[in-house]
Amino acid sequence: ETLSANAQWFEDNSPVDPRFKKKTVKGVSAKVINAVCLSGDSYPSTPIGINLPNADWIRKEHGSKSVTIANITHTYDYAAQEMPTSTLAEFAYNKKEVEMAKKWGTIADEIHTDLHECLGHGSGQLLPGVSSTAMGEYASALEEARADLFGLYYTADPKMVELGIMPDPEAYKAEYAGYIRNGLMVQFTRVEPGRPNTEAHMQNRKLIAEWCYEKGAADKVIEKKVRDGKTYFVVNDYKKLRALFAELLAEIQRIKSEGDYEAGKNLIETYAVHIDPELHKEVLERYKALNLKPYGGFINPDIVPVVKDGKVVDYEAVYTDDYLGQMLKYGKEYGTL
Ligand SMILES: [Zn+2]
Repeated sequence: ETLSANAQWFEDNSPVDPRFKKKTVKGVSAKVINAVCLSGDSYPSTPIGINLPNADWIRKEHGSKSVTIANITHTYDYAAQEMPTSTLAEFAYNKKEVEMAKKWGTIADEIHTDLHECLGHGSGQLLPGVSSTAMGEYASALEEARADLFGLYYTADPKMVELGIMPDPEAYKAEYAGYIRNGLMVQFTRVEPGRPNTEAHMQNRKLIAEWCYEKGAADKVIEKKVRDGKTYFVVNDYKKLRALFAELLAEIQRIKSEGDYEAGKNLIETYAVHIDPELHKEVLERYKALNLKPYGGFINPDIVPVVKDGKVVDYEAVYTDDYLGQMLKYGKEYGTL
C-alpha cells in the first residue's frame, strides 16, 4: 500500500531518460493477503501471487493490480531453511553471505518482488508511434529484465528505509548477492545438460547478472572464485553493482521505448541464452548431491467449528500431515460436485 501511494515518486526518480517516463502513473494496486486454504488447480501447488493485466496498453490506460500471498511465500522460505541441505549453503561463498541471506533474504526478496510487480512493469512509456510488439520474440525476457532492474535499483534506495518498507539500510545486500548467485549459477539447476537457457524469467536473470559481471569485471564488482574445485560468484562492491543495474535499466527502457529490436536481440543473444557447459555441469552435480525436490505442495487445514452450548463460537484450523488421506477424503465427501 505504501508502495502504491508513492508510485509517482518512484517513476520520477528512476535512472531512466525523462522522455521514457510516465508523467502520471495510473492506478497501481498492491495488496498482500494470506490464503486460508487452496483449491482447484492451485492445490496442492499454488502460485505465490497474481499480477494482471499483462498487456501494456491496459496498464497504461487503466493501471494494474498485484496480489501477493504472504503466508505461502513465508512457508516456502521456512521449509527451505529447515532442510538439512540447501542451495544457499552450497552456492554461497562464505558464512557471512549465508548469515546475511538468513537475516534479510526473505524480506528483501519479497520487497524486490513487490517493486517488480506493482511498479516495475507499470513504469515507463513507449515513444509515440512505437509498436507494443516491436521487440518480437525478445519482448518477454526484456520486459521481465526491465521490471527486475527497476526493483533491484529501488531495493537499495534510502527512500525504502525512510518509508518503513525496508527494515535496514544493509538489507538490500542480501537480495543483490542472492540475485547474482542465482542469475549466474543456481538457476541452471533447472536446465537440462546441453540445453540453452530459454525461459523468459530465467533469461532475464542471466542477462542482468552476466551483463553486470562483464561490465564490472575491471573493478571486480562481482568476482568469480574457485575453492576446492567449486565455483562461486561474490559481490565485492554493492554500490557499483547498483550503478550497473541503473545503467542497464536505462538502456533496456530506451530499447523498449524506441522499439530498438536489434539492440534488444543483441542483449539477449549475448548474455541470456548460452550457458557455459563446464559451469552448467558443475552446478547440476552440486545440486544433485543436495538431494532436494524441485517443487513443494501444501495440505489444507480442516476448518473445524468450535461449538459451545449448541452455538458455533469460533473456528479452529486443524492441520493433518496426511496428503493422501486428505485427497481421499475430498474425493469421498465432494466427489459428486
Ligand atoms: Zn514480471
